[in-house]
Amino acid sequence: MSTRVEEQLRAEIVEAGRRMYSRGYVASNDGNISARLGDSRLITTPKSVSKGFMTPDMMVIVDYEGKKVSGDRDPSSELPMHLEIYRNRPDVNAVVHAHPPLATGFAVAGIPLTRAVLAEVVTTLGSIPIAEYGTPSTAELPAAVRKYIKAHDGLLLANHGAVTCCRTVMTAYYKMETIEHFAKISLVARLLGREHLISREEVERLQGIRGMYGIAAPAPLCTDGSDGSIDQVLCQVLEAPESRDRLVPDVSGLLRRASTDGEIRLTYGELTALIADAVRNLT
Ligand SMILES: [Zn+2]
Repeated sequence: MSTRVEEQLRAEIVEAGRRMYSRGYVASNDGNISARLGDSRLITTPKSVSKGFMTPDMMVIVDYEGKKVSGDRDPSSELPMHLEIYRNRPDVNAVVHAHPPLATGFAVAGIPLTRAVLAEVVTTLGSIPIAEYGTPSTAELPAAVRKYIKAHDGLLLANHGAVTCCRTVMTAYYKMETIEHFAKISLVARLLGREHLISREEVERLQGIRGMYGIAAPAPLCTDGSDGSIDQVLCQVLEAPESRDRLVPDVSGLLRRASTDGEIRLTYGELTALIADAVRNLT
């Protein structure tokens, strides 16, 4: 007999699946959602069903080894990735996996979403690294996710999609929305040829805001991992240059423009950033 908590979770999973499908984050029967149903059981979406057209009775209940406890259908073959996340994150109660096209495009291009660009994304998700490619439905994918999931609530999966986790089904789903929205904005900025970054000092302020508002994050923000010296396993590593200004003009974008146009026009702020960057590279 299902409890009120279980009924609520079934309804939330149906709703998150409906939104995921209607926003185009999944095609066909792709994607999966799960939630903790106590210390020994999980509730999860069935395989071979469109996540946009599920009903509460379709869900599958499994134990933490992935063995089916009840339900007429079978769980997704990606369930081991969810189990791995629950094992590594006792604070997490729900996991959402989808293939949102823009975020997945970044995952296919091998470009992580780790630049400090939007204050809200910095405070809520921090950085969004790419977990190495693993063949779907094998132990490779949980192993790739294991590496980063202790410090991140959202990951891109190389040549596959994205996965998010949080305290509730809907907040895990919202993190997926944030990742896709962030990927869209990043793509537009890069197509426009510039992507000004939030400075290191401003990222430190945002870290303070996290503390002030009690924003739950599994790891602290660390700035500028461009030299690879900071460990993404322990930290949310963001690309955020040092500057007295809050925003740092995109010097690399300016140089790209110069090479295509043959002419370069700089504002005072852009020129000083260019000089500061050159000096930094000399030292
Ligand atoms: Zn998938």
